[in-house]
Amino acid sequence: MTHTFLGKIGELMLKGSNIKTFERVLAQNARANLQSVQAEVKLRAGRMYIECPDESVEAVKWTLNHLLGITGWAEAIVVEKNIEAIQKEVVNQCLAAKKLGCKTFKLEARRSDKSFPYDHYGIMREGATLAYQQKILDVDVHNPDVTINIEVREKCFVYSDSIKGRRGLPVGVSGKGLLLLSGGLDSPVAGYRMMRRGMSVDCCYFHAYPYTSDQAREKVEHLAEIIAGYGMRSHINIIPFTDVQMQIKKKSPEEYTTLMLRLCMMKCANMLAERTRAGCIITGESLGQVASQTLQNMECTESFAEYPLLRPLVGMDKEEIIATALEIGTYETSILPYEDCCVLFSPRHPVLHASVEEAKRIYESLEVDDLIKEAFEKRVIKRYESRSIVAKEFGTKPNKDELTAINGSEPTETR
Ligand code: ATP
Ligand code: MG
Repeated sequence: MTHTFLGKIGELMLKGSNIKTFERVLAQNARANLQSVQAEVKLRAGRMYIECPDESVEAVKWTLNHLLGITGWAEAIVVEKNIEAIQKEVVNQCLAAKKLGCKTFKLEARRSDKSFPYDHYGIMREGATLAYQQKILDVDVHNPDVTINIEVREKCFVYSDSIKGRRGLPVGVSGKGLLLLSGGLDSPVAGYRMMRRGMSVDCCYFHAYPYTSDQAREKVEHLAEIIAGYGMRSHINIIPFTDVQMQIKKKSPEEYTTLMLRLCMMKCANMLAERTRAGCIITGESLGQVASQTLQNMECTESFAEYPLLRPLVGMDKEEIIATALEIGTYETSILPYEDCCVLFSPRHPVLHASVEEAKRIYESLEVDDLIKEAFEKRVIKRYESRSIVAKEFGTKPNKDELTAINGSEPTETR
């Protein structure tokens, strides 16, 4: 049996002449994810349709649940293009809703095929008659338990309440950013937030082995893989930062060590952004959350950034961040107990309101530039792709193995 899924393109409607590009990128992203299964993705008049056989249904649902740029989606029943067929299907969907405990319903209709003899009011009025006569559910146009949608286009689709989409813009329309990804709760959420604005996101993790364990690194890699599920693909650059941190510990006044580490990370991020042609640097900082995130300390960090520094969580509180982490599936991994490097080198009384001049002066005294460059050169890159996640979980086509091999592979080339 062929299944038809319908994705609603929401915010994209606002974008006037860019709409075609955005729709094209959205469809490309859906197709890329579904490469390893049988499925056909089409765009028609503000809607994305995906048709697939039984065995691809789970892959399509996964894709619709991860795709950025759709406001909602539903599995639609395709019926013959006449009012009797619509009435029958409305009855079916009312019966199904009743089984789920619904008591009231309303119909919504859209007609883009102007040759259909009823306009959208007519479809709503006539479409409900059979269900109404059979008294399956009561009509409530203001606050219904279920809304049944009818769309008469080149085919006629009937579907009940759609599942919420992730909204935002399709990944690939807003350039590329470099995310400083640590193992905490915040930075994966920050990356997701920028992906949701259409940005491709590469990641960078500063690893202080053996002070931070391999498990800590694996945890961050896993986070990169999870967010790649939304961002289509993501490279994670693992940068061995132990020597840099030892130098900071040796030379910096104790209360400045965390801030100095941030500045060194920023210096290294500048190099990486240049090499990977990222247009901005992204962090998970949130104002006032910890000592290094006071306004003055953030100003110090920012003064070392050679790219726009985006902090999508700056005005969010921890509960809001946790809610998003739960929603995108990073929470469970983020709360695993392996410390990240910042914890081990934390001063007892970190400076709260550093001045940019003082921070620069201390940074100069560390003589750490060569070590940062060395760390940058020794980085290891891994690549994660959403299409490989789909292939691994649901893939049915023969090229499945090839796709699966990508995730976590270690390309040796230095980008
Ligand atoms: P998170 O929960 O994201 O780890 P946090 O609340 O623990 O953040 P900090 O440790 O002060 O806050 O880190 C602030 C930001 O600096 C992080 O959100 C992240 O973007 C970046 N960062 C911190 N440590 C690292 C690291 N080891 N590698 C890469 N980026 C890091
Ligand atoms: Mg952290």
